[in-house]
Amino acid sequence: MKKIPLHWKIIIGLIIGVLWSIASAKFGWAGFTNDYIHPFGEVFIRLLKLIAIPLVLFSIITGVTSLKDVRKLGRMGSQTIGMYLGTTFIAVTIGLLLSILINPGNQLSEKDRLENRIKYELWAKNSQTVIRDGKCVSCDTNNAALVEQVSGQPVEENESIKAKIEAANKLKKNGPLQMLVDFVPESIVGAMINMSQMLQVIVFALLFGIALISLKPEVAQPAIDLCASVNEAFLKLVEIVMKGAPFFIFALTAGVFSKMAGDDLNALLEIFKGLGIYMTTVIIGLILMIFIVYPFLLSKFTKNKYGYAKFFKAISPAQFLAFSSSSSAATLPVTLECVTDKLKIPKTVADFVLPIGATMNMNGTSLYQAVATVFLAQMHGIDLNMSQYVLITITATLASVGSAAVPSAGLVMLVMVLSAIGLNPAWIAILFPVDRILDMSRTVVNVTGDIVVSAIVHKWNKGNKE
Ligand code: ASP
Repeated sequence: MKKIPLHWKIIIGLIIGVLWSIASAKFGWAGFTNDYIHPFGEVFIRLLKLIAIPLVLFSIITGVTSLKDVRKLGRMGSQTIGMYLGTTFIAVTIGLLLSILINPGNQLSEKDRLENRIKYELWAKNSQTVIRDGKCVSCDTNNAALVEQVSGQPVEENESIKAKIEAANKLKKNGPLQMLVDFVPESIVGAMINMSQMLQVIVFALLFGIALISLKPEVAQPAIDLCASVNEAFLKLVEIVMKGAPFFIFALTAGVFSKMAGDDLNALLEIFKGLGIYMTTVIIGLILMIFIVYPFLLSKFTKNKYGYAKFFKAISPAQFLAFSSSSSAATLPVTLECVTDKLKIPKTVADFVLPIGATMNMNGTSLYQAVATVFLAQMHGIDLNMSQYVLITITATLASVGSAAVPSAGLVMLVMVLSAIGLNPAWIAILFPVDRILDMSRTVVNVTGDIVVSAIVHKWNKGNKE
């Protein structure tokens, strides 16, 4: 019998997971799904996270040392960062244009928007907010009553919303250069403990790789060989873990969707209806990225060497995993495997471009942040001006770079964008109920964007013996 390819098995796992969650909401199995099925999904994510951090460390060191000289590293580095910023800019622009075109926040009745506007004005007056030159100089989001009033959600009872708002508050207290300080790890062990510190691991790996290529070859070689061999071992581990992927993805999807639906599918549908146009706008933007922007970039810069169908088939395991895990970092081991094994992009490029992309390049997240900001402004009857749109473009780009590659990071970083244009950062609570599904979808675009850039950088460096 012909073997079913892995990507089909994963799709089947995903579909069964969704069907299971619908059945579990209908027949009241949510408890069982939560207690006995979802844990297998958690095991899978833990395994991938376990692999991801050391893999980033060793793959970047191996990538840098195989480039052999710092000039090549500089060239590939600037191409990579340039492409990442370029694609993020395109994504934000698409997000803004779609929101201006579709007006998702204006679907609310005139009366509701007026009421929202009054609440906003009250908030701006009563909170310690100071808006100067269209910027929120000092914002107070630590006001549970206000958040409840704005979002209609009881914050005291909702630990997740509370935690997100606390994280957002912490973020706002930092100065503008804090991001730069946060890039640099104090301790490599500390950086490796937490997935959200991936950028610090990357900085260390780059510096360590540069140090190795600056040493005399006979001194550096044993360390280079050791890193390369440890890297191979981690990749093998990915291969082994991926054998169980169809089942694990079933468990993960069943758990995530049934948590969303609980035991009442109608309640979920009601929430989706309320935020439907906003969700549709984000999803249209993400679809445009996948089916128009990336194919265009591939054909322009790689002369469509792969063929889209083949390209998407090759990377589909990474896309499905991104969808079910909502984490570019947890998906990274599989992304690396797809790119080197299926697209045949050399490890020298993949090892360097992909870990940086997983952490810094989030096209889907930046698009979503642009739509969310305009949506929230519109539903509060606030007309944004040109300089605010420019500010959204800049801050959404920065916020997506600063978002950790883990679930919900984009929602927390949205605070930065809202604050920058003088909106109430606590409004993230309004988007919270539907955020997971959008998070799953934007993570697919984040991962696809990284892969597309790796293919382009490969093409650009082909003649130069990567
Ligand atoms: N979950 C996204 C990722 O890992 C980040 C976000 O937008 O929340 O790529």
